[in-house]
Amino acid sequence: MAFSGLVYQLPIVRGEVSEPPCHLCPAICCQYFALQIDTPGSRKDFENLRWYLMHERVHVFVDAGKWYLQVWNPCQHLLPDQRCGIYETRPDICREYGVDENQAVNCHATSEANSEYEVLFTEASQIEDYYRNWHNKRYGKRKRSRK
Ligand code: SF4
Ligand code: SF4
Repeated sequence: MAFSGLVYQLPIVRGEVSEPPCHLCPAICCQYFALQIDTPGSRKDFENLRWYLMHERVHVFVDAGKWYLQVWNPCQHLLPDQRCGIYETRPDICREYGVDENQAVNCHATSEANSEYEVLFTEASQIEDYYRNWHNKRYGKRKRSRK
């Protein structure tokens, strides 16, 4: 069965909060990692994205115009009770996640379902549709103007 991404009931907390509500959250941010990838600009690039998405528990998303590969695989230090097993020595990225540069809370637990993603792809067919639109926008007019 295809992995459908965030299976959590979001948001976990509604309204304004002063800090990430980690004590209420099933440690969503410890369940995956994401790497920025090049913005696709050719059919080959989109073919690669399509291939990524053929793998289980892999998503692609766009955030603030940047593209990311997202792999849903929990951190090996996540304890069964959702606490961090290496809290004192956890990596910087873990320390920094959950608040933005203005110190405002910005994490999965406070967002509507998947609203933190500008675009989210969970299946290869979604990339095919996106590529068709992208190609038509980019090359459709040029083709028509040759007639
Ligand atoms: S930072 Fe946000 S997503 Fe991560 S555990 Fe805390 S509340 Fe959950
Ligand atoms: S090191 Fe700790 S805080 Fe960081 S992802 Fe792993 S369990 Fe979560």
